[in-house]
Amino acid sequence: MLDGDSSVQFVRGIGPARAELLRKLGLSTVDDLLHHFPFRYEQDIGQVAIEDLVLGETATICGEVVRQRTSSRGARSCQVNDGTGICTLRWFRPEFADRRLAVGAIVRATGKVEERDGLAEIVHPRVDVYPPDSPVLAADSGARLIGTYRTTQGLPSQVIARAVAIVLAQPSLPVTDAVPANLRAARRLLPRDQAIRAMHAPRALADVDAARRTLAYEEFLLLELAMALRRRKRLALQVGRRLHVTAEIDARIRRRFPFTLTASQDAVIGEIARDVSSSRPMTRLLQGDVGSGKTVVAVYAALLAIANGCQAALMAPTEILAQQHFRNLTRYLDGSRVRCELLVGRQSQAKRRALLDEIAAGEVGFVVGTQALLEEKVAFADLAMVIVDEQHKFGVLQRAAIRTKGPTPHYLVMTATPIPRTLSMTVFGDLDVSVLREPPPGRGRVITKCVPFATMNTVLTYVRGRIESGEQAFVVCPLIGRGDESLSADDTPDAQAPPRAALSSATETYQRLVSGPWRDLPVGLLHGGLPAVEKSATMRAFAEGRLRALVATTVVEVGVDVPAATIIIVEHAERFGLSQLHQLRGRIARGARDGLCVLVHHGRGEKARQRLDVLVQTTDGFRIAEADLRLRGPGELFGTRQHGLPELRVGNLVADFELLERARADAFDIVAHDPELARPEHRPLLPALRRMLGDKLALIDAA
Ligand code: ADP
Ligand code: MG
Repeated sequence: MLDGDSSVQFVRGIGPARAELLRKLGLSTVDDLLHHFPFRYEQDIGQVAIEDLVLGETATICGEVVRQRTSSRGARSCQVNDGTGICTLRWFRPEFADRRLAVGAIVRATGKVEERDGLAEIVHPRVDVYPPDSPVLAADSGARLIGTYRTTQGLPSQVIARAVAIVLAQPSLPVTDAVPANLRAARRLLPRDQAIRAMHAPRALADVDAARRTLAYEEFLLLELAMALRRRKRLALQVGRRLHVTAEIDARIRRRFPFTLTASQDAVIGEIARDVSSSRPMTRLLQGDVGSGKTVVAVYAALLAIANGCQAALMAPTEILAQQHFRNLTRYLDGSRVRCELLVGRQSQAKRRALLDEIAAGEVGFVVGTQALLEEKVAFADLAMVIVDEQHKFGVLQRAAIRTKGPTPHYLVMTATPIPRTLSMTVFGDLDVSVLREPPPGRGRVITKCVPFATMNTVLTYVRGRIESGEQAFVVCPLIGRGDESLSADDTPDAQAPPRAALSSATETYQRLVSGPWRDLPVGLLHGGLPAVEKSATMRAFAEGRLRALVATTVVEVGVDVPAATIIIVEHAERFGLSQLHQLRGRIARGARDGLCVLVHHGRGEKARQRLDVLVQTTDGFRIAEADLRLRGPGELFGTRQHGLPELRVGNLVADFELLERARADAFDIVAHDPELARPEHRPLLPALRRMLGDKLALIDAA
C-alpha cells in the first residue's frame, strides 16, 4: 500500500532512472503522480479477440509474442497469440518497434487490421509491452478513454499511465477530502478519490467534466480560504496609523492641483480617506488605465499623511518614471512647505548620505524613488504611507520589503494593467480594490490601425508628414541590437520569441529610419542597454520636443508621460501581449489631439491580425485584459510567480469563473463563522492549504 508521501520510485515499474525523469516533471511523490492529470483523452476502441478481427477496421488485441523475426531488408515482425488466433505485427521502420518485443512478452497492440498470407496483420501498431507472465488482459468490450500525459524526453505517456494505473489499483487512494461534506453535497461534487480516478480513467468525457469541476472547486476553495484568512488576520490584528482627514486638509491638498479632480478620482480619494481615518492600515489596489490620473490620487494620499506630520514614500519601477513623478510633484508642491526628494541608484555618495540622514530625521516629507528605497540604509522617521506604482514590475518580496520601512504604514499599490476580476480575486483576493474608469476630460481619441510590414514605408512617409506639421512619434521595437544578451527586465519580449537575430531591433530600426524615410528628422534612440544618464537625457529631449521621434524598446511602456506625443508605431506587434500593446498605446493622446497607433505585424498573416484586431476594436483596458487572459493565461499576463499565485492544476480562471465566485463566497463564509478552522468538519482544510501553498501562504497577499 503506497501512501501519498511515498516516493514515485516505490511504484512498480519505476526505477531510479524513471524516478529521475518524473522528478523533472515535478513529480516526486505518489501524491504528485495522482495529481498529474492527462491533458487529452482519446477513445480506446476496446480490445477484441483475434478470431473476431474484421479486415480494414482499427482494433486492439492483446496476447503473447510467440515468434519474432527481422527480415533481410530490416523490417521487423512478431506474431501474437491470444488463445483464439494469431496476428502479425509488422514494422517496416524497425526503429519504431519496441525493443522489449521478445518471445514471451505480453503485448497490447492497436492499429488497422490487414491480411497477409492468411493471417491477420497490423502494420506499425501502437503497442504497450508487458513482461512475460503478466496476466493476459481479458478482452473487455465497452469503449473507454485513454489519457495522454505531459511527458519529458525518454518518458513516454504510457509509462506514466501505467504507474498511475498501479496506484489506482489500490483498494483505497491515499487522498483526503478537505472540502466539508455539506459543501460537497450543496455544490454537487464527487468524492475526491472518485474524481481523481475519473480524471485518469474516465468511461466518458462527461466523467472528466464532473471530476474536473470537483477538483477545480477544491483548488479555488483553498485559494480563496487563504485570501479570507489573510484578510481577516489583517483586519483583526493590525493596528494602523489613524490619519485625520478634515475639510481644511482636503481643500489645502486640492489647491495643489492645476485642475479639478474627476468624479472617479473623487470617489477613490473618498475610499482612501475612509481607509486611513480608521484604525486599520489601508491595503488598497488602485487600477486605472494609463493616463486615467492615478498619480494625482497617489499624491493626494501622500499629502494626507504629510499633513498629519508623517512621511510618505512613492516607489516606481524605473528611474525614468521616478524622475517623472518627482518633476510633477515638484510642480504641484511649488511654494508649499512640503519637502520632496528623489532617491535613485546613481547619486553621489555625499549627496546620498546627507539625504538619508534627512529622511531618517523626518525632515523630508515625501520621498520618491526606485528600488533604491528598499536598501537597508534607508530608514524613515515616521513613514505612514507607502505607494507602489506599476506594482506588477516588482517582485513579491520587494513589495513586502517596502512595507517594513514603517511600523504598519497605509499601503496603496497602483497598476495600469487592468486586471480582470477573475484574476484580481485570486491574485489580490484580500486587497480592497479601487478603479479609475473615467479618464480626465479633454483627451483626444486614438485611432488604431493594423498593417503588414510590407506597407511600412507608406506608413513612415505618412507619419513623417504629421511629424513635420508638429506632432511627435514613438516607434517601439521588441528588442535591442542583435546578439545583445544583456536585456533589461524592461526589454523582455514575448516568451515565444524566435532567435533574436531574426527580429528587428530598436537599433536597426533607428538606423533604417534615419538613413531612409526619416532622414534629417531629429530622431532619438532609447533602449535598456544604454547608460542611465544617456537614457534620461534622450527622454528629456523628447519630452521637451527637441527630438521629434523616439525609437525605443519597451522602456517607454511604463508610465512615461509626454503629452505632445500623438503617434506610436509598434514594430513586430505580434510579439507583444495585447495588454502590453494597450499600455504602449496609452503613451499617446495624453493631450487634446487625436492619436494614431499603428501596429505593424510581420509575416504571420491572418491569425496575428485577428488577435491584434481586439485593439483596433476597443480601447477598454478591461476587455483587452480579458482577451489576453483567455489567449495567454494568467502567467503570461501578470507573471504568476511574481504574485505567489500557485499554479492551478485543474481550475481555469476564465472558463471556471462562476465556480471560482462560488468557492470564494463559500471560503469567506467559512472564515466568517470559524476563523480558526477549528470545527471538526473544517479541520482537514489547514493541512490541505499548507500542501497547496506551502510557504507561499505567507506571501500571497504581499501585492
Ligand atoms: P496615470 O498615472 O494613471 O497613467 P497620470 O496620473 O500620470 O495617469 O495622469 C495623466 C495625465 O492626466 C497627467 O498629465 C495629469 O496631469 C493629467 N490629469 C490627471 N488628473 C486630471 C484631471 N482631473 N483633470 C485634468 N488632467 C488630469
Ligand atoms: Mg502612472
